[in-house]
Amino acid sequence: MNSPRGALWMARALASARAPATEPLTSGPHDAAMMGEALALAEVARALGEVPVGAVVFRSATGEVVGRGYNRREVDKDPAAHAELIAVREAARRTGDWRLTGCTLAVTLEPCAMCAGLIVNARLDRVVYGADDPKAGAARSVARLLDHPRLNHRAPFTPGVMGGACGEILREFFRSLRRGNATPGV
Ligand SMILES: [Zn+2]
Repeated sequence: MNSPRGALWMARALASARAPATEPLTSGPHDAAMMGEALALAEVARALGEVPVGAVVFRSATGEVVGRGYNRREVDKDPAAHAELIAVREAARRTGDWRLTGCTLAVTLEPCAMCAGLIVNARLDRVVYGADDPKAGAARSVARLLDHPRLNHRAPFTPGVMGGACGEILREFFRSLRRGNATPGV
């Protein structure tokens, strides 16, 4: 490490490697509050029998929320109705610009390849997410698309923000499904 930034990165990487899943890891002043909003939206999804994932788009500087979304695949019969996609589309409508420069996305679950592609196309500043998705995550778990060096835009990401709570709502949902208390076939 020959620079203060490099040293900071290394310190964060080591902290991340050692931290338990429940320990929040934040790098922006609004990260935790925005993840709280995203978790509340995940609860809305759960109440509808959807896999509980929630997302918000907020102005990076002020924390003003400009887009909200939760997973609606079942109710909309739409394979693309992921929380991030709905939040990003609402943010573009409300800001009047498809370029969401100056905005950050907070989402309870690591974005999939479709949503990571959308995030890059929307030119979002950054992504904050809660739980890793070992089966479909395209930030770092299955693929690494958000900050791919060959792409024309890169969105740095902060994983593990309220990761314990974000993972638990999903685990509880699937436990409930196995007990037969929620909509089957998800
Ligand atoms: Zn997705």
